[in-house]
Amino acid sequence: MKAIRVPEFGNPEVMKLEEIPEPKAGPGQVLVRVRAAGVNPVDTYIRAGTYARKPELPYTPGIDAAGVVEAVGAGVGRVAKDQRVYLAGTLSGAYAELALCAEAQVHPLPERVSFAQGAAIFVPYVTAYRGLFHRGQAQPGETLLVHGASGGTGIAAVQLARAAGLIVIGTGGTDKGRMLVAEQGAHHVLDHRAPDHLDQLLALTGGRGVDVILEMLANENLGKDLRVLALGGRVVVIGSRGTVEINPRDAMGRDAAILGMTVWNIPEHTMASIHAALGAGLENGALRPVVGQEMPLAEAPRAHLKVMEPGAYGKIVLIP
Ligand code: NAP
Repeated sequence: MKAIRVPEFGNPEVMKLEEIPEPKAGPGQVLVRVRAAGVNPVDTYIRAGTYARKPELPYTPGIDAAGVVEAVGAGVGRVAKDQRVYLAGTLSGAYAELALCAEAQVHPLPERVSFAQGAAIFVPYVTAYRGLFHRGQAQPGETLLVHGASGGTGIAAVQLARAAGLIVIGTGGTDKGRMLVAEQGAHHVLDHRAPDHLDQLLALTGGRGVDVILEMLANENLGKDLRVLALGGRVVVIGSRGTVEINPRDAMGRDAAILGMTVWNIPEHTMASIHAALGAGLENGALRPVVGQEMPLAEAPRAHLKVMEPGAYGKIVLIP
């Protein structure tokens, strides 16, 4: 089969499309023919060798994908051959024609959701769900700021929060991205490049501030976020690419909480519950992953450059 391989950590160009042996499904494993693989920012950190989790070299990148079950190993009962599925991680890497998975990593893909959309589910939607409801404890009727709403995780958060009855304010850095955020259900949309956007946010909430912030770029925003939280407000740090200075008094005066999270810390039983919630939302149309760009698998290096550029518009997916 064809797969993207990384022989050494480095720039996007280290990724090459190669012919490698097809994996086989052992007991408790599922082999999936990949129809689309999702590109996440974390794929680039892992490839660069700067991430806490380092795979053994050489490796095939990619965590998210969707496709059709090609074969199941002994003892697999949750999915069957020819079933449409989305993947929540793999054992062998998602940027490939075939991906080997543990049974628990494979989830049914509802008919109304395309393969490309299926490749945009796991990291973005599980992160958004975990951040919003478990870490942030968001309640219907509360006000939410999705700080960085135009990308994969932000769009997921906007849809989840809107369906759950929150008042949603989302930000984007371009007109196109902001239009998308509004289309996906945000009640108000702001420009995170405008220096006064958090003053505008305070005005929108009558000076009260927001109950929950899902923060995609904490190194830029955390200090300022604390000043626009309502009493008892929570900031969930989802993304950060550096350090930041905060004034702890901004948190003290508001009984505010700063909560970190990573998708890798979610316990297995909680993960299963999140997938059940996402499956329901995908089935009834409340959750509609947005694919901004499809590229051939061979263009993985270009996709890695693109995902780190400003001007997000939903997800980038690779098509084998
Ligand atoms: P993405 O699709 O590349 O989107 C990035 C988002 O950040 C876009 O909405 C972008 O907006 C926005 N952004 C850029 N500059 C910003 C600023 N100054 N203030 C606020 N937002 C800004 O990436 P993603 O999948 O949504 O992920 C977002 C971040 O969360 C990444 O850093 C990723 O690594 C991290 N993440 C962490 C976890 C976890 O487990 N903790 C899971 C998923 C993602 P424009 O491009 O429109 O400016």
